[in-house]
Amino acid sequence: MQSEEVKRLARRCGFQLAGVAAVEPIREAKFFLDWAARGLAGAMSYLTDRRAEIRCSARSLLASARSVICVGKLYNAPLPYSVRFDEPERAWISRYAWGEDYHEVLRRGLTELLERLKEAAAEPFEAKICVDTAPILERAYAQRAGLGWIGKNTCLINQQQGSWFFLGELLVSLDLEPDTTPPDRCGSCTRCIDACPTNALTPVIYPGGPRYELDSRRCISYFTIEHRGAVPKEHRPGLGHHLFGCDICQDVCPWNHSAPETGEEWCQPREFAPPLDKFAAITETEFQNMFRGSPLERARYTGFLRNVAIAMGNSGHPRFRDPLIALRGSPDAMVAETAEWALGQLR
Ligand code: SF4
Ligand code: SF4
Repeated sequence: MQSEEVKRLARRCGFQLAGVAAVEPIREAKFFLDWAARGLAGAMSYLTDRRAEIRCSARSLLASARSVICVGKLYNAPLPYSVRFDEPERAWISRYAWGEDYHEVLRRGLTELLERLKEAAAEPFEAKICVDTAPILERAYAQRAGLGWIGKNTCLINQQQGSWFFLGELLVSLDLEPDTTPPDRCGSCTRCIDACPTNALTPVIYPGGPRYELDSRRCISYFTIEHRGAVPKEHRPGLGHHLFGCDICQDVCPWNHSAPETGEEWCQPREFAPPLDKFAAITETEFQNMFRGSPLERARYTGFLRNVAIAMGNSGHPRFRDPLIALRGSPDAMVAETAEWALGQLR
């Protein structure tokens, strides 16, 4: 089977980006293991436990794998970037989390692609679908498959289409012609580094490797999505009105200035930048009903209330006094303490 045919089928399955990489030892594995060993993954154990080694070898997921078919699905809904939306009393939810949970969307597309490949292939082959849950160094393979380069913001950037993509992979036992790695086009630009409110993008020296890395322990996305427990006080002001995730280092990237948009229903916001008041008195059942099937479930109820309290405090707006007093009475000690801190910010 020809790689061009594979990519044509991928586009018919709804993927805007598609390419092929050979399964081979990848040098980025060394950088990743070092990054994890230095503690920069914070408490994300799925990046540091036994899955770290699995992540470094595609053949630990499919022993017969010879090629990785890498795909990208655009999620850039046609609404303003966060850096152009200056309303601190409204909650910013990261663009990727506006709609349906992307895992299912990607899995559906990759399942369809696999079926089409099986119909088109001359011989049977083995395959495995990877969408986050199967650990693989997906940006490294996507880069080899020609989808883009890894920017200083640590995202994969496509020269024509920007970085608003979910990535997925299909490991196959087929020998496919690999694509070529595109050049790094960040040049001397430092906009993402300069714009990051918490200085989470830090320089690193790896000969022949990345020049910047993400310190998760400083990143707004980490604090609002992955971090369990109280957010350290010194980091709370930097979170601004971010309720879930952060897009700033992608918003300011010049390669996203004319990024294509998509009207696909699954990634449109249920409500764009909802007012913070809406969430202060939310019950756990309401939280579950409101965000069922959405990435926001990952923050969990008490983490979500913690984020609401921080955003209210950072707004400085007196109208949040009463909701914060109510949150201070929460039976959850972390929520109560965060609300107390937020009240102090209003004063
Ligand atoms: S997501 Fe936000 S906090 Fe994290 S590195 Fe990018 S700009 Fe900084
Ligand atoms: S903002 Fe500039 S430095 Fe950062 S990823 Fe984009 S092009 Fe690269």
